[in-house]
Amino acid sequence: RVSSRLRALAQHASSHRRRVVLVTGAAGFVGFHTALQLHAEGDAVVGLDNFNSYYDVRLKRLRAALLHRAGMRTLVEGDVCDAELLRTILREGRVSHVIHLAAQAGVRYSLKKPLAYVEANVRCFVTLLEAVHAVNNSVPIAYASSSSVYGLNTLVPFSETHRVDQQASLYGATKKSNENIAHVYHHLHKLKLTGLRFFTVYGPIGRPDMAYFGFTQERTLHAPRSPPPFALHAPHLRLMPSQAILAGRRITEFRKDNGDELQRDFTYISDIVDGVIAASRLAAPLEIFNLGNTRPEKVSTLVKCIEAGLGRKANSTRAPITAGDVPLTFADVSHARKLLRYEPKVTLEAGIRRFLLWYSDYYQVDLARDFMPSRKEAHELKV
Ligand code: NAD
Repeated sequence: RVSSRLRALAQHASSHRRRVVLVTGAAGFVGFHTALQLHAEGDAVVGLDNFNSYYDVRLKRLRAALLHRAGMRTLVEGDVCDAELLRTILREGRVSHVIHLAAQAGVRYSLKKPLAYVEANVRCFVTLLEAVHAVNNSVPIAYASSSSVYGLNTLVPFSETHRVDQQASLYGATKKSNENIAHVYHHLHKLKLTGLRFFTVYGPIGRPDMAYFGFTQERTLHAPRSPPPFALHAPHLRLMPSQAILAGRRITEFRKDNGDELQRDFTYISDIVDGVIAASRLAAPLEIFNLGNTRPEKVSTLVKCIEAGLGRKANSTRAPITAGDVPLTFADVSHARKLLRYEPKVTLEAGIRRFLLWYSDYYQVDLARDFMPSRKEAHELKV
């Protein structure tokens, strides 16, 4: 069945002179938004995701349902480490471009489950490069790296020209190894590979393991109410997180040893998607780009934005920075500006507002009165 769908997609794409783009991790946060945008731009998109249970799988199923509703009918449930499946997709789908976003993400989890990172981020990456090399060596691959490759570097803003050899987590080390492996496959086989160092991506239908999502959940009580007019039309897939866990739990703000706050270059999802798609279209021989917002913000600023939206004060406690975390991330994006025409557009306030509008709709949570969306915003939020 997968083969016949892929052949139909390839046929359709070739008769309409469209690209066929394989997006791995398409049920993930960045993959979902990227696939949706590519589909909207007219590319034929094949998704691949193993729907792992690193976080609530219902969120991944929701993204898959939304892609399906948007008209994207080829989301394959499978593993990037499955070499045979990859070769089938590349061959039968006549894939012209790959965007590789599947990975085991998260810095803290890499302390608990180190081998999951070696498997998903290293073994699967090599499996993908081998498959592309075997089926069609000219297919360019844009892959997700991460700001975590900068690790303990103190020279800011972080530039691609900086030497990066001080990762602070295994997650960061696997992402750096992707860049090294990319270099080897380009050198040996002339594969076209572009690494994209994302800086703390956030937005609607995001990842519940990340701070902005966790802070919001911990400050909300989930009183059901009738869905507002801009509700996503997938009520059977609505998440109902445990009220017991969420009600009144304290949020923890991690600090440096000297008490200073951590800072992150929070980057809104639509800016990241623009950068990813531009990189995929450029199809450079071998490149690395930072994709960030260029404005590091204190975590307390993030908390203030969320408080404003929820109309509630956070009940914060402080804790020392955890192992693997770094004090600051700060992107220099001049390289991406020049070659990708990348320009981050969304401020933290505007991005968190959009996240909260989605969140309140989805989880049916009331926001502060002056936070209600304009008609235009409500329309744009319909995925
Ligand atoms: P995500 O966890 O939401 O998405 C990753 C998806 O890949 C998931 O849906 C998961 O099920 C899938 N997956 C994992 N292993 C797989 C495998 N072996 N085969 C098939 N599918 C598999 O994470 P995200 O935030 O969307 O991240 C996308 C990429 O961007 C990842 O490579 C991540 O490391 C990188 N990144 C993300 C951020 C961020 O802030 N979100 C920052 C830096 C880098």
